[in-house]
Amino acid sequence: MPKAGASKIKPLRCPTCGTLVTVADPEFPFCSDRCRVIDLGKWASGAYRISSPVHDPELLDELDGLRSEAKQRDRDRGENG
Ligand SMILES: [Zn+2]
Repeated sequence: MPKAGASKIKPLRCPTCGTLVTVADPEFPFCSDRCRVIDLGKWASGAYRISSPVHDPELLDELDGLRSEAKQRDRDRGENG
């Protein structure tokens, strides 16, 4: 059996800050949780803008769904009142 070692680990650069990271890193390909969140925030805002607050459209969608669900439940209950 060939030796399984760390010989094939390729270091990559963190897309956010450029620090070298390896696949062994828990936050790969980012160097830290912070950099991962920053990068995700950039994509979520659509145009790699940093200066604006991050709005998550999916989260808003989810909240909307929960709200209409609750409304429907209210209606079902009201029929027998
Ligand atoms: Zn980084």
